[in-house]
Amino acid sequence: MEYMDAPITRRDLIVGAAASLAAAPHATEAAAPKRIIMTVRGAIDPARFGRTLPHEHVMVDFIGADKTGPHRWNADEVFAAMLPHLRAARKAGITGFVECTPMYLGRDVRLLRRLAEASGLHILTNTGLYKEPYLPEYALREDADALAARWTAEWREGIEGTGIRPGFIKIAVNPGKLIEVQRTIVRAAARCSRATGLTIACHTGHGPAALECLDLLRDERLPLSRFIFVHADAEGDMKFHLDVAHAGAWVEYDSIGWKPLADHVRLITAFLAQGPAERLLLSHDAGWYHVGEAGGGEIKPFTPLVRDLIPMLEREGMKRSQVKSLIVENPRRAFEVGA
Ligand SMILES: [Zn+2]
Repeated sequence: MEYMDAPITRRDLIVGAAASLAAAPHATEAAAPKRIIMTVRGAIDPARFGRTLPHEHVMVDFIGADKTGPHRWNADEVFAAMLPHLRAARKAGITGFVECTPMYLGRDVRLLRRLAEASGLHILTNTGLYKEPYLPEYALREDADALAARWTAEWREGIEGTGIRPGFIKIAVNPGKLIEVQRTIVRAAARCSRATGLTIACHTGHGPAALECLDLLRDERLPLSRFIFVHADAEGDMKFHLDVAHAGAWVEYDSIGWKPLADHVRLITAFLAQGPAERLLLSHDAGWYHVGEAGGGEIKPFTPLVRDLIPMLEREGMKRSQVKSLIVENPRRAFEVGA
């Protein structure tokens, strides 16, 4: 609940990178710092984020860090393939869309900005790195400070000369005991988060790996509310979900639509019966244009959550206010940063 009392002005808070940098809070300022959500079109007032999908993809290129690049896709073709899916989400009442494809895996921020303008969605992109074999060579030799500096520079200066800034940090860890490079990447994410305020969405899907991440973040003195246990619904033991949520981090059920919706109804109901509702995020991990496949291959829709799952949860007795908490207030709190 740490951000609930921050004052929210109704006007647009579109601020440039320079303005945001200049607005670093000083101890003499009595008022709570202004909070924003950083989209690919600039900063917005968090109150405008609205119903949000916290984990989706527009495009993914799984060819590997040494081979991927803009030469691999035709941005106009991807734009044409994905815009109808984004418009369908917008039509279903979605306004916030968190795009989770990291660099070296098909992140194209210019394309995301075009799609944000055309669809009317508030789209977020990210900084950070995935895992092997999607890591560039430098990730294997640089230390956590050097990696954090690269990502913090994207926040301060924009990505690839576009002026487009990340709205969060996306990383990944291997299942089981974390290997050295992933431990370094988790520490780098923590240091970048401490420097920028950005939240870390960590591809995890395995309970023990998530708990190891939390230990690293504690060691880095990062508030655990800045960490999202991505793909928590791939971990079958609810105890890990509850441990992570009770520790103050976010638990994300993001495979909605990949299995029967009744399974997610049961999972969400079970979590809410035992865990803190203010720590749960829901999304599809859907899309996406598969680079290298004709027409982008099979693209999954971004609409089952609001079209089908929410009505099912309401039939189970979930109140409108609880729905709003889950799909509006929680994502807003998860991705808000100090301006
Ligand atoms: Zn994903």
